[in-house]
Amino acid sequence: MQNSEHTHAELAEQFNADEPRVNWHDETLWWIRQKRDKAAHNIPEWEQLREAASQIKNNVLSNLSEYLIAFEEKAKQNGIVVYWAADATEHNTIVYDILQKHAVTQIVKSKSMLTEECGLNEYLQQQGVEVIDTDLGERIVQLSKEHPSHIVLPCIHKKKEEIGALFHEHLGTPAGNADPQFLTNAARLHLREKFLTRRIALTGINFAVAETGEFVVCTNEGNADMGAHLADVHIACMGIEKIIPQRKHLAVFLRLLARSATGQPVTTYSSHFKKPRKGQEMHIVIVDNGRSKQLGRKDFRNSLKCIRCAACFNTCPVYRRSGGHSYHTAISGPIGSILAPNLDMKQYADLPFASTLCGSCSNVCPVKIDIHQQLYKWRQVIVQDGNANMMKKASMQGMAFTLSHPSFYRVAGKAARWAFKAIPFMVNNKFNPWYRQREMPEAPKQSFGEWYKKNRK
Ligand code: SF4
Repeated sequence: MQNSEHTHAELAEQFNADEPRVNWHDETLWWIRQKRDKAAHNIPEWEQLREAASQIKNNVLSNLSEYLIAFEEKAKQNGIVVYWAADATEHNTIVYDILQKHAVTQIVKSKSMLTEECGLNEYLQQQGVEVIDTDLGERIVQLSKEHPSHIVLPCIHKKKEEIGALFHEHLGTPAGNADPQFLTNAARLHLREKFLTRRIALTGINFAVAETGEFVVCTNEGNADMGAHLADVHIACMGIEKIIPQRKHLAVFLRLLARSATGQPVTTYSSHFKKPRKGQEMHIVIVDNGRSKQLGRKDFRNSLKCIRCAACFNTCPVYRRSGGHSYHTAISGPIGSILAPNLDMKQYADLPFASTLCGSCSNVCPVKIDIHQQLYKWRQVIVQDGNANMMKKASMQGMAFTLSHPSFYRVAGKAARWAFKAIPFMVNNKFNPWYRQREMPEAPKQSFGEWYKKNRK
């Protein structure tokens, strides 16, 4: 859960102040996008897979309550304790109650964007619980007291030299050593001690199978497995949309997820959890937190099909050049800009406007969410509900008036061409954001209408 006094544009401006960082952020994510393209093109039936995934998720969204109840029933039969949380507060309280019951004040946690959304780390810290994030990228942002800037690559905004300095400060590695292999080994040693000594491990859930009551957690580092297998208690948290009907459907989603996320054929660890081992406790917290409301919004319900691969982030020209923190929400990027206004339309009214609407996000989405169409629809809802930026609204109204009154349009055009020539500083000044980044063109001598009249044969 992140709150900011600043808008996406203001935060993007801060990110843009460091031009070399912006360039490599942009290039790195584009490189991942290209890896995704290669992986997708290597599968002739890629489009059929996307279609199958989209249809399976359509079915899930239309029968969500049935699948959830079936999943709960099977999970209980398997010996798992199941909880339902209406919102972030309930989710956090349920997790804390389990920790209290076991008198535990230290836990390990693998990557879970749901717990980021619910602000679980901050909540548990306030209760005196130490949470160690065990995904390497998440541990890095945790040590630097930041939030993940990307849902798959949480510290993609950080340079290796910055990580070296961070490890030197917190883990005691030699100053100036920024060798990735060396730093990874240092993190491994640091985390191993945590895995071996913590009695409770928390993980996310990528897919929950209604047919069997089992769930699948995908990681590239094996950290979820280390935590869950060594701990006495495993808590797994999932949003209600993580359900898939049958185990065989995993074959569709697992093929799409890794290829769309990083261009890998499959995630290194796709671990299936069905029941607690002897002597272990297993708990699942199923969370709504606004998802039912989104399900009821006809134009936006498809956003719940998201499998959090981040392909839409990596391809988005705005995300790549503004950085994940500029979205001031746990899930950033194009899909985050659709999900966040559902939670708080006023606070996140700026996000659907942080897009060129080029449609590249919809083209790469493995579950065929019409992302750019939904961003466009959110803009309309936000304006109709009176949450639009006042300046933007006033200038759009001015533009609508000008374009619908031809004589006024002609006069305004003439005045603008004259101003460009006679008093250029009125346009070419530092208050004009367009001018700050670009050379302004020379004013044409005549309007297109005048030219057309003269040259029409
Ligand atoms: S909206 Fe689609 S592309 Fe974006 S993260 Fe979700 S599944 Fe991936």
